[in-house]
Amino acid sequence: MSTTATPSSSAPGPADADCLFCRIVAGEVPATVVATSEHAVAFRDIDPQAPVHVLVVPRAHHRDVVSLAAADPALLAAVVALGDEVARAEAGGEFRLVFNTGAQSGQSVFHVHGHVLGGARLGWSPG
Ligand code: 5GP
Ligand code: ZN
Repeated sequence: MSTTATPSSSAPGPADADCLFCRIVAGEVPATVVATSEHAVAFRDIDPQAPVHVLVVPRAHHRDVVSLAAADPALLAAVVALGDEVARAEAGGEFRLVFNTGAQSGQSVFHVHGHVLGGARLGWSPG
C-alpha cells in the first residue's frame, strides 16, 4: 500500500478570473510554457533575472507558498518536482527556488509561484 500523498483534486483554489497566473494556466494569456505536469505549469518569466528564469505554478489557485503548504502539501511537492525537471533540462539540475511571500518580499502576483533561477553562478544580495 502506498502512503504517498497525491495533490488534492478538489482544490481550495478555483480559477480566479482576475488572477494573471490562473489565466496563463487556462491559456487565456500567452506565455512560453516549458514544462507541464498534471498539477503544475512552468513558463518563462517575462523579465528574466538569470539565464534560466522560469516560474512554476500549481494549476489550482493558492495565494502564496504558506497557504499552499497548509492546504495541500503534496501540491507544493508537485511544484518543486516540476521546477527540478526544468532545472535538470536547462541548468544542470542546480538552481535557486524562490517563493516571494508578501508584498514586502517582492511578491506582485498573488498566485503562488516558484522562481527557478539558474544557468550561471548566482550572487546573493536580496536586500
Ligand atoms: P513576484 O514578484 O510576484 O515574486 O514574481 C512575479 C513574476 O512574474 C515577476 O518576476 C514578473 O517578471 C513575472 N511576470 C509578471 N507578469 C508576467 C506575464 O504576464 N508573463 C510572464 N511570463 N511573467 C510575468
Ligand atoms: Zn490564480
